[in-house]
Amino acid sequence: MTDRFGIYVHVPFCRRKCRYCDFYSRPPKAGELDRFVDAVAGEASARPCVGRVETVYLGGGTPSLLGARRLTKILDELRRLYQIAGDAEITVEVNPQDVTPEFAADCLDAGFNRTSVGVQSVFAEELGFLGRLHRPADGPRAVEVLREAGFTEIGIDLIYGLPRQTPAMAEERVRLAVETCRPTHVSAYQLTYAAGMPLWGELESGRIRRHGEDDEFALFRSVHRALRNLGYPAYEVSNFSLDDAHRSRHNSSYWRHLPYVGLGPSAHSFQPPVRLWNIADLDRYLAALAAGESPLDDSEALTDDQLAAEMVMLALRTTDGLDLAAFRERFGRDLASERAEQIGRAESEGLVVLADGCLRPTPTGLAVADRLAVELC
Ligand code: SF4
Repeated sequence: MTDRFGIYVHVPFCRRKCRYCDFYSRPPKAGELDRFVDAVAGEASARPCVGRVETVYLGGGTPSLLGARRLTKILDELRRLYQIAGDAEITVEVNPQDVTPEFAADCLDAGFNRTSVGVQSVFAEELGFLGRLHRPADGPRAVEVLREAGFTEIGIDLIYGLPRQTPAMAEERVRLAVETCRPTHVSAYQLTYAAGMPLWGELESGRIRRHGEDDEFALFRSVHRALRNLGYPAYEVSNFSLDDAHRSRHNSSYWRHLPYVGLGPSAHSFQPPVRLWNIADLDRYLAALAAGESPLDDSEALTDDQLAAEMVMLALRTTDGLDLAAFRERFGRDLASERAEQIGRAESEGLVVLADGCLRPTPTGLAVADRLAVELC
């Protein structure tokens, strides 16, 4: 383990499954919230790591469903077991319905200094389609409550690209959500479909239709343009911030391929060159920890070629791009000469810029970042 890392805690509870969700979560049963908090503490104590924790992220699922007292207990336990930096970014994801002035004040007191609010949309028919339980006004109200409590770093999550949404509609709806909430950070995700999510059945039966590739591209461009015009330039395919100081340090560390420890059911960890992941089942996770066993499901040691491909793929999703000297130092490979032809072609298509030792995607390149990575690594 290197001497700097992040901690992710996956909180596997949600009141009800949203129709577009493929994260591991389910409603809690009686007594489970407290058992989960104890289990996470048990897992953390069995995973000692030497070094400085620079970011902590409680995600899910719906962490705010735990309430401020249990969230505080988890954070206190992490502080007891790990060396968390004084200036660490400590984020909690919150559902708009859970945010009260008391909740916000208690989270701030506990040491959380950043929140990510699951706004998704400020339109009733979209929230209904997505299967969200909150109303359009709940997201902006939650942001306001958090701001009044003293949070200065507040991100919102939005979803666009719903069936029949045009680029003009997406642009307008994202603009309205951002103008109403005035966050410091926006994560705007284009709706995608995966087997297992409730919407998948509707897609398969033809009740809804997904957008074609050209439409997806147009939606992506319109949302990026809207956010840029509002003062939130993209720094990653789906992430935007008022300026560099408001970026998510935790998520940026993933894209920079830095190590992290994942706790909770289905959580992944990355301890280069090994990737590890926990059982994606709360009952089995709790049972394993109650029996003093590891909740690890499996692990995989990545080869240098796999690590290099991952580093390129992650870097090309960010506007910082790939630092070619750092890549050479880590893998002993000169990508600029190895892939000179492919890079030249991507440059002539206006997808990347090679300058100052960095390979950076252009705004158009960001829209096809995954395809670009396959061609360039
Ligand atoms: S989208 Fe978020 S709130 Fe909805 S079920 Fe999934 S994890 Fe829970």
